[in-house]
Amino acid sequence: MSEENCVFCKIVKKEIPAEIIYEDGYVVVFMDISPASKGHLLIIPKKHRVMFHEMSNEGAEKMMKAARMITESMFNNVSDEGYNLVMNNGIHAGQEINHCHLHIIPRVKSDGINFHWNHVKYEEGEITKFSKKIRNGLFN
Ligand code: AMP
Repeated sequence: MSEENCVFCKIVKKEIPAEIIYEDGYVVVFMDISPASKGHLLIIPKKHRVMFHEMSNEGAEKMMKAARMITESMFNNVSDEGYNLVMNNGIHAGQEINHCHLHIIPRVKSDGINFHWNHVKYEEGEITKFSKKIRNGLFN
């Protein structure tokens, strides 16, 4: 999906309606139209970026700063039982809209929402191989 056809860019530019909660120079926060639970919202960068790692450090900081502020209000005013922060990056991670977005989903007991994965096992020495690959790529 190109930037021109991106539904979330259209929300940023106010070309399509959204229930906006907050915006500043970096992010827009709005209600998800097909929520996992009532109060589910999305935080998006104003700049079109597909995945989280494509954002600038500054953009990522502003997103997490907004998340901290929004979750406090959600916890105090929607559900004090908890919430999930979820971000799907890439088709195999479940990303449907190709404009990076952080889901904030209020949770209540027995709400039926389920984030389940099967645990895999590392072969001998494999955990160190993975940690090295990731560590060696830092600060490049
Ligand atoms: P994901 O699967 O992580 O890409 O999630 C995309 C989310 O965007 C879904 O939860 C949709 O319900 C939500 N969504 C799609 N279009 C809109 C829209 N126009 N306004 C608000 N939320 C939307």
